[in-house]
Parts: sequence; structure tokens; C-alpha cells
Amino acid sequence: MIISPAMMKIFEECPQKYKYIYIDKINLPQNKYFYQKGKNIHAMANYYLKGFNIDKLEVLLSKDEKSIWTYLKNCNYFKYDCIGSEYQLSCKVDNKWIGGRLDAFVKNKEDYYILDYKTGSVPENAEYDYQTMVYLLCADAFLKKYHSLKFIYIDLKNKTEKIINFDEQLKQEYTEKIKNILSAINLMKISQNLLLKNNKCKCDYYCICDKN
Ligand code: SF4
Repeated sequence: MIISPAMMKIFEECPQKYKYIYIDKINLPQNKYFYQKGKNIHAMANYYLKGFNIDKLEVLLSKDEKSIWTYLKNCNYFKYDCIGSEYQLSCKVDNKWIGGRLDAFVKNKEDYYILDYKTGSVPENAEYDYQTMVYLLCADAFLKKYHSLKFIYIDLKNKTEKIINFDEQLKQEYTEKIKNILSAINLMKISQNLLLKNNKCKCDYYCICDKN
């Protein structure tokens, strides 16, 4: 099994919630409307970077979506060579697989960029977000040799960017942090007693949660 950044994040938030979602496989109904805008923009970017003609799709976008999409389409990164869009990468840390699907992976000569488009908000502590750490470690293992490697959060709401420059020091820090969360997840699998009880919390799984 490949452990994704979302799995790590949910485990850190609450091991009980992790159990409901990834071990018991209990899925709750989602508010689809909330995700629609993000999905449409990601779909446009994916078709565009893969070289499809999107003229007929662009006319279907709402005014708000069109403004966001125009901003993204004209960003410099979309002028670079596209290695992959909706690109799956994985690597091994501590003999366990980690990985996920990058929104886009582009390069300008020997400078590489992982792109992540956000219609919501960029993570507060973006440099140490599990998504940042996992994707950069995977890209580093995949490339082996490069001049520079950066993670770019493109904030489509505020039309700004958050850039994280990967280097040897970050690589060591990230590897250590990922090792720690993987070993915590592994421990939970062998001992359900480790599940934490939090009397005040109330997530989507509250109605079925026996820890409250
Ligand atoms: S209600 Fe609390 S303990 Fe239960 S799954 Fe949600 S966050 Fe975890």
C-alpha cells in the first residue's frame, strides 16, 4: 500500500478518524458542490497541459472559474516543459511506499517544479505540510540529478504563490518526519489500544465515533 499525504494528515489529526476512513473504509457523504470549482479548474489544467483543445470547455466555465483559469493558464510555469499532469509519483522511505498525485510536474532546463493549484487556501505551514514533504521526496528520488527542485503552491484565490526550495537539509528533515509518522501509523495497525481519546473533538465521524 502507498501511504499518501492525506492519510498522514488525517492520522495526525486523529488516529480514530484514520481507522474509520482507511481501515474500516467508512465513507461519509460529501458536499459535492463545495469541491466543484476546484475540480473544474484541475480538469481544465489537466486537459490543457496534456495538449487537448479546450476551447469548447472554456465556454462552460462560470465567470469566477474563468477568471481563475485565465490566471492559471497564463502563469510562467505553464510555459515550461510538462513532464506530467495529474502525475503519480512514489518512493520508499524506511522500506514503506509513500506517494501521491501531483497536479503538475514541469521543468525549465534542469530546474524542476512541482505545481499545486489551490482554489481554497494554501496550507499554513506549507514547508512542512505532508503533501510538500512527500511530493518533494518522491520527485527527488525520481529525478536523482537536477539543478534545482521547487514546490510551488499556486494560490488561485489570492493570485499569489508560495515557493519551497528543496535542498539537502530539507531532505534530511523531511525523511525524519515521514519516518516518524509511518512508524506511528504502523504501530496503530498492530495495536488498536493506541487510539487516542479526545473528549472535545467533533469531526464528520462524530455521529459514529465511540471515542466521545
Ligand atoms: S469525533 Fe473526535 S475522536 Fe472521533 S474520529 Fe472524530 S476527531 Fe477522532
